Amino acid sequence: MSLPVAVLAATFGGAASAFVPRIAHRLAVPRGTPPSSACAACETPTETWVRAGASCRCAPPPVWTIAAGTLTAGLLGTAIGPAPLLIVLLPAAVLGVLLAAIDLRCLRLPDPLVALFAAATVVPLSLGALATGEPGRPVRALMAAALTGAIYLFVALLPGGGLGLGDVKLAAVLAFTLGNAGWPAVAIGLLAPHLINGPVALSLLLTRRADRRTPLPLGPALLAGALVALIAAG
Ligand SMILES: [Zn+2]
Repeated sequence: MSLPVAVLAATFGGAASAFVPRIAHRLAVPRGTPPSSACAACETPTETWVRAGASCRCAPPPVWTIAAGTLTAGLLGTAIGPAPLLIVLLPAAVLGVLLAAIDLRCLRLPDPLVALFAAATVVPLSLGALATGEPGRPVRALMAAALTGAIYLFVALLPGGGLGLGDVKLAAVLAFTLGNAGWPAVAIGLLAPHLINGPVALSLLLTRRADRRTPLPLGPALLAGALVALIAAG
């Protein structure tokens, strides 16, 4: 383990995640609606995308968002160390924090952001594997993405499956990165999100903050599960 790399990664993750709340606030709107242009609480205009800290002056400091970015990036830095893979995954991790923040707010994983996540991982990981003479890696990654996407699509099409198509797409996109790492990571990535979401759903039910029909976001658990899978199988 390289402590300086872990600290640098964590610092990047925390600093970059400070810009997430404003973007998440603007994009957490119903499907087909343009990005919000005013604070939902105090109606202050929020037309700029770039603001470090809370989404608006009236909002509390985004402690959880910055903590999530710091922890995610720090764990990746610890697990991966000084390698090109880390350079690819750190921006993806911040994008993941943004996707989770939006899903928690409005139960959506906007297609353009999932597509950006896909481009930010699939392209550099494939080029990297070709550059190091490992063409089998992107092939395995594609197979993992197709397999995971098919499983999630099957569940999403079941009556009462409780999965959105955004979840299906994100699961497939994350499976590419896990497939690039290896099949053990793919297997853990399939299980871990549900081991994370199960206790959360149960505690919400038991504390009566949700009932059986309350839709719960799966995106944050998919992202956290992929992180666990990368670290456990790395
Ligand atoms: Zn406000």
